[in-house]
Amino acid sequence: MIKLAIIILTLIGGLYGIVLNIVQHSSASNPTPENLKDVYDDETYSKWKKYEAEHSRYSILSSIVTGIIMLALLATDAYSAVASIFPAGDHAGLISVIVFATLISTVFEIIDSYVTNMIIEQKYGFNKMTVKTFIADRIRSFLLNLILSIIICYAVFGFYSLVGVWMIPIFAGAMFCFSLVISFLYPILSRIGNKFTSLEDGELKESLMSLLTKHGYKVKAIEVMDASRRTTKLNAYFTGFGKLKTIVLYDNLVNSMTPDEICAVFAHELGHGLHKDVPKTQALNLINMALMGAVAFLAVSAPELHTAFGFDGVNYGFVYLLMGTGLGIVQPFMSLLMNAKSRAAEYRADRQAVSEGYGEAMISALKKLARENFSHLSPSKINVVLEYSHPPLGDRIAAVEKQLKK
Ligand SMILES: [Zn+2]
Repeated sequence: MIKLAIIILTLIGGLYGIVLNIVQHSSASNPTPENLKDVYDDETYSKWKKYEAEHSRYSILSSIVTGIIMLALLATDAYSAVASIFPAGDHAGLISVIVFATLISTVFEIIDSYVTNMIIEQKYGFNKMTVKTFIADRIRSFLLNLILSIIICYAVFGFYSLVGVWMIPIFAGAMFCFSLVISFLYPILSRIGNKFTSLEDGELKESLMSLLTKHGYKVKAIEVMDASRRTTKLNAYFTGFGKLKTIVLYDNLVNSMTPDEICAVFAHELGHGLHKDVPKTQALNLINMALMGAVAFLAVSAPELHTAFGFDGVNYGFVYLLMGTGLGIVQPFMSLLMNAKSRAAEYRADRQAVSEGYGEAMISALKKLARENFSHLSPSKINVVLEYSHPPLGDRIAAVEKQLKK
């Protein structure tokens, strides 16, 4: 009975993803908004439609196959079978289940990333990833996933045995601090495998610096990252805290945009900084972590959830999988809220760029970004509401134009 309930919950979580992929697939035929008619020329647009159709068709297929395999592994008690190979005990049981689960998800990830990057994006001239970076990325992501899930399992194990139900707030607090440490370390971690050079002196750097000083803003550095080895996508982001805050511009961005457009993108990022969007997101994240703690508590305090899948008692590695199932149900509601907040923050950051005098440049920058990133010009409302952390391009440009008219 319990086993069936867990399998059904896992199935619901999987179906949710499949439905989103299907809506996404059907949205390729949505009409293009009036203000975006000049983003792609006819030839590129029909190429994009083919790309989008092929990519989303693959996503549907892949989510179905992944879902079936995950359900089959649960239904056949595969995880407890793996754990039983090793000597009984908390640690061997935990590690063996986690390693097994991470290996499985890594295999899915390798196939997904290979088909998406090396086959589909390659075919449409979108991929910059070489086989070497592909392999290095996969190994790194395997190790990171493994370490991260083992840390989470041991946190659940430790907190539950020490404080029982109080583990929910403590787990949330600990995970929150951990995520702060990660974002603190991110600037250092991202240096592995990427080259950063500071932006060369000149007109662009002066305009950027004058934007910063105008708002009494301090950053450690403005750096250019050699992202072009991996992708043709254009991006810029803030990392770190306080004095360590660094602004990173992708080299693609610097190479393909005019100084005004780069300033517009930068003013947008500055808007995020001025409105403290990162700390606000982190505050919301704390709620997310508390939810995670609650799900972890449920997963660990009910041994019957484990015995139903062939374990002798609570297996702390399996807790991680149960958490995945629980979060698959809860998370969509949370991301609904977080994405709505994030989209509002994006509009606000765009308004910053307009009020700095970069309204027109923002529009052309957004169009360039869309063109380079092969963005969906007319996504379905359902996908936007549930999944988009950024508003669709047409809406953003309309908002900028509205503000320019005032
Ligand atoms: Zn933004």
